[in-house]
Amino acid sequence: MSLVSRDPVLLTPGPLTTSLQTKSAMLRDWGSWDAAFNAVTAKIRQQLLDIVHGHGSHVCVPMQGSGTFSVEAAMNTLVPRDGHVLVLINGAYGKRMAKLVSMMGRKVSTFETPEHVPTTPADVDRLLSADPGITHVGLIHCETSTGILNPLEEISQVVKKHGKSLVIDAMSSFGALEIDARKVEFDAVIAASGKCIEGPPGMGFVIARKSVLEQCEGNSLSLSLDLYDQWTYMEKTTQWRFTPPTHIVLAFHEALNQSIAEGGQKARLSRYTKNYEALMAGMRELGLKQFLDPRIQAPIIVTIHAPESAHYSFKDFYNRVRDKGFILYPGKLTQAETFRVGCIGAIGVAEIRQAVNAMRDALVEMGIYEAVAA
Ligand SMILES: *Cc1c(COP(=O)(O)O)cnc(C)c1O
Repeated sequence: MSLVSRDPVLLTPGPLTTSLQTKSAMLRDWGSWDAAFNAVTAKIRQQLLDIVHGHGSHVCVPMQGSGTFSVEAAMNTLVPRDGHVLVLINGAYGKRMAKLVSMMGRKVSTFETPEHVPTTPADVDRLLSADPGITHVGLIHCETSTGILNPLEEISQVVKKHGKSLVIDAMSSFGALEIDARKVEFDAVIAASGKCIEGPPGMGFVIARKSVLEQCEGNSLSLSLDLYDQWTYMEKTTQWRFTPPTHIVLAFHEALNQSIAEGGQKARLSRYTKNYEALMAGMRELGLKQFLDPRIQAPIIVTIHAPESAHYSFKDFYNRVRDKGFILYPGKLTQAETFRVGCIGAIGVAEIRQAVNAMRDALVEMGIYEAVAA
């Protein structure tokens, strides 16, 4: 272990590096019944609706837990018990969505493409024509397993044409990539505090179509993950139904304010894009290649092929880079040896360049970089 006493820079897709203001917002205790705390909850719900231009059509329901809890709450509440969900899969989060839908007792069909192949609108058109019994389509916007971007707007048009309901796991894209309720017809968008809004992890939220959620009483097979109850209780009392993660709520609010001050979604996308470009320039210098075709790569998290060397092991590489102050993310692919680098969080090009230098030094120490460069 190194003697580095500062926090490492997290190059991971949540938890990620948060700003000092965001961390500082967690230093106070708040009563969950207190009007001041409930006003913060109300403000967050408005700010999240602003991001998707969903006022009027949609409502925002926050939920305790990591992002998966909100995906499960959305599916378990919005899909009627006799519903049938088509889940579009090209990575681990798509598989997870299909699994939780089936565990919640709903009928599920899956369509899986390889991890480097986006689902196309034509695929969805064909699948919905072939099985008119499908009621909902589940889509992962940016599949964090690789960083692949699925074509949300085009797929939403096909789902709309067939008169079906679209549920979007936008966990790793929300707040950075555009999701506009005026352009994309969806019944739910799901995300969480600890991703592109750059808050700490610990709560998620579902932005649900109001007219749909109103019809969902009694659908849930779970008490704590009943999105309808969470919503109606919050509307009635302004409070969370069960103990809220008070410190996380405050820090998330602070992070939302900073995201607005930075210039909102477009400014965030622009910073992440610069991070991504700086990272790729560095990887090219090191002779390391990206797994995805750049045309389908979101500037959120990048999958990099590991160096082809007998000296390489991810664990050794990870430990060496960590001792220099940077936390990498393991690859999640079944076939190829890869690692992942996040471009998101309260970091800029300076931190990315430092991280590239740390990776270079680690590869030199491991006796790999010279071999790659030669
Ligand atoms: C992070 C993430 C989730 C939620 O994962 P948790 O570990 O429950 O926070 C779901 N979907 C995607 C695409 C994600 O990136």
